Amino acid sequence: MSSSSKSAQNRQVSEAVVAKLVELDLQPTPENYTVWYYDHIQANPDLSKTLRLIETQGKGFDDKICGQVYERFFGSDEQTRFIEETCDRMEKSMSRILSQMSSVSAGSDDYGETLEGFQAQLAEPESVSEVKTLVEQVLTETRRMQDRTKELERALDDSSKELASISDHLVAARQQALTDSLTGIANRRSFDDSLELLTNESASEQEPLCLLLGDIDHFKAFNDTHGHRVGDQVLKQVALTLEQCIKGRDVAARYGGEEFAVILPQTDMIGAGRVGDQIRKSIANKRIRLKSSGQTLGAITLSIGATQYVPGESLSALIERADQGLYRAKNEGRNRTIIEPPPDAKPSAA
Ligand code: GH3
Ligand code: MG
Ligand code: MG
Repeated sequence: MSSSSKSAQNRQVSEAVVAKLVELDLQPTPENYTVWYYDHIQANPDLSKTLRLIETQGKGFDDKICGQVYERFFGSDEQTRFIEETCDRMEKSMSRILSQMSSVSAGSDDYGETLEGFQAQLAEPESVSEVKTLVEQVLTETRRMQDRTKELERALDDSSKELASISDHLVAARQQALTDSLTGIANRRSFDDSLELLTNESASEQEPLCLLLGDIDHFKAFNDTHGHRVGDQVLKQVALTLEQCIKGRDVAARYGGEEFAVILPQTDMIGAGRVGDQIRKSIANKRIRLKSSGQTLGAITLSIGATQYVPGESLSALIERADQGLYRAKNEGRNRTIIEPPPDAKPSAA
């Protein structure tokens, strides 16, 4: 394509993206532009899928929602830098191997020629000194070849070490991106991924799946009385208790602030009510002791909403229903588990 038709095409794309921002009443910020630019050029199917999902939910787009989409798909600066750095390391490692390989291959051509020459001259040797010279030449070429092969071996060895280190680095980075830094349990991003995966499995295997949403009671007052740092210790304790109360493929995550979520595959509402109450009681029975003074603080309680997944429903409908259960648990006095059954399901006791 000529450069003038390319720039005309670029202009068309940017006009279409700006028109989309105007249509959605969005500010022309770099984040909004980037999100809709990638959707327009269809370069990121997952991003487009997310935008279509938001559209079907009919919530509309604002700067906040677009900001969240941007954050999810284009990540933080730190992550972008990490990816660039990793690619750079891989590129260096690869180009070292490639240059060693081509040097060995050029060397092996020379070596082949020397050997052929030696063979031809051996057929009609003229003198001992001529044979001696030939042998010396072959020896020199053989040593050179050996050196090059060794160098290639070293490069391959270094490179496989470098690749193993990059791979460890990637595993650790992925783990970090999915972990809540304060509590060490799954974060919201990891929760979203797990919920999508496990609800799909629940639908295809026709096994029940339940979701619990928990929120610490009167946590603002707790923070105001004891300070944010003690509050953080409580969040860690709650996360630890959640982990202790689940098993197998269950997932406990920090949903945000002082809210937690638990995904319970292969569990019906009766089972979910049981797990919810076990979590709730374990937390209420723990006593928080201040490290500094040894003073024991009052009990922490958790309100929990639970519901069962209906195959085919949207994840936001599922979360919304668990949230309604949580809302009722708060209204009915806190420190309780309330099950919000799906519309067509028979209510069952907690
Ligand atoms: P409710 O029983 O209705 O849930 O009352 P609440 O006070 O827990 O609810 P509210 O939403 O008013 O306050 C939530 C509090 O959670 C306020 C905020 O300071 C605290 N919080 C959120 N995230 C953190 C955190 O990371 N660390 C600490 N220490 N506190 C947090
Ligand atoms: Mg809350
Ligand atoms: Mg709360």
